[in-house]
Amino acid sequence: TRDITVDAASTEHAETIVQAVKALPHIQIVNVYDRTFNLHRGGKISIASRIPLRSVSDLAMAYTPGVGRICTAIAQNPEEVYNLTIKKNTVAIVTDGSAVLGLGNLGPDAALPVMEGKAMLFKEFAGIDAFPICLATQDTDEIVRTVKNIAPVFGGVNLEDIAAPRCFEIEARLRRELNIPVFHDDQHGTAIVTLAALFNALKLVNKSLAEVRIVINGAGAAGVAIARLLRKAGAEKIWMCDSKGILSLSRTDLTEEKREFAVKAQGTLAGALQGADVFIGVSVPGVLTPEMLQAMAKDAIVFAMANPIPEIQPELVTKNVAVMATGRSDYPNQINNVLAFPGVFRGALDCQAPTITATMYLEAASAIASLVKPADLDREHIIPSVFDDRVVTAVSAAVQQAARLEGIAQS
Ligand code: NAP
Ligand code: MG
Repeated sequence: TRDITVDAASTEHAETIVQAVKALPHIQIVNVYDRTFNLHRGGKISIASRIPLRSVSDLAMAYTPGVGRICTAIAQNPEEVYNLTIKKNTVAIVTDGSAVLGLGNLGPDAALPVMEGKAMLFKEFAGIDAFPICLATQDTDEIVRTVKNIAPVFGGVNLEDIAAPRCFEIEARLRRELNIPVFHDDQHGTAIVTLAALFNALKLVNKSLAEVRIVINGAGAAGVAIARLLRKAGAEKIWMCDSKGILSLSRTDLTEEKREFAVKAQGTLAGALQGADVFIGVSVPGVLTPEMLQAMAKDAIVFAMANPIPEIQPELVTKNVAVMATGRSDYPNQINNVLAFPGVFRGALDCQAPTITATMYLEAASAIASLVKPADLDREHIIPSVFDDRVVTAVSAAVQQAARLEGIAQS
């Protein structure tokens, strides 16, 4: 008899292996590991020193008494905080745990693994030191007050996984009241990458943003931000749907953000899709049927981005669909925020922009789209890979150029 240990990446994976091994003679399973759980033990990130601390004199410079002169210099000239501390390269990843991934309101403790992961992405893709900050409150005033109170440490604030519609007010107030960039990634990161993908998909089907009719399903954090950015980019015909159907002028239950996009039309998603050129789904799994796609225009574009299960499985798309994208890494055309937020913050921090503007979102989207050269552009390659190392540089440069043109770059 041989003893073996099963080392699997998921519970399903482990179960499959255990069942398969059970049928084999002379083999006994002594242990089952879940590699994903093991990977998270002790957390995924740590703080490291950038300078040596080996002697009394190192200590006297890095800490007291030497550090006292640095404090005095900053007290006399507050701008020096950008030169003499970590601030210039530091981002707070702030959540209240109210909309964790697609999992819902899990609270601040359960949100921490996601925020640690986000911090890893900031570091790996853009060299930024980002701290997970999970707040034990879901009260708008308290969140705003807390973020303002911790802001001195940070060069920027990335809001993460805060539920709509509260996320809109929290971001708007922090943007007004802080002089560092505040960016809700679930809104604007998504909007930037979606627009980049749409720019390229439209090139493939020879249609223009101004002429196409776009249906956005889902009017939450992602849907509203996508609609706002598409409009800024020149889209003129946008219909949005939420769980009750088309955001119609006749409805009396619309929030302020939803009312921005209310149209004369009314009815269901199926009705909205008849003759539409573009579908963008940031809603829930499985709400699209092949029949609904069939009713769309010729050379339709379908971005089914509900995660992890899209609005329709790519295998089910109909012949009239020219381009299909999802949020997933196991299908072509992955629309993933990691293409945007590292470069956006890299650019904003490097030019010390006090805010991130819609013009920067637009320029970032164009920069991402333009990395797919005409010769490489086809229906399965409308967007660069998340591991394409040109992306962060291109996005950062685009953001900085926009900041300079807008006159808000400070370094
Ligand atoms: P959210 O703020 O909770 O918004 C969800 C929206 O979907 C709400 O407007 C909700 O309607 C609507 N909805 C729910 N059921 C629906 C249905 N049956 N038909 C139509 N609309 C329906 O969530 P979010 O942050 O915007 O994210 C939405 C989805 O997009 C999630 O699955 C998320 O994972 C995905 N997403 C993907 C990416 C990406 O791939 N890069 C990025 C961001 C988000 P009500 O307003 O009526 O409740
Ligand atoms: Mg998120």
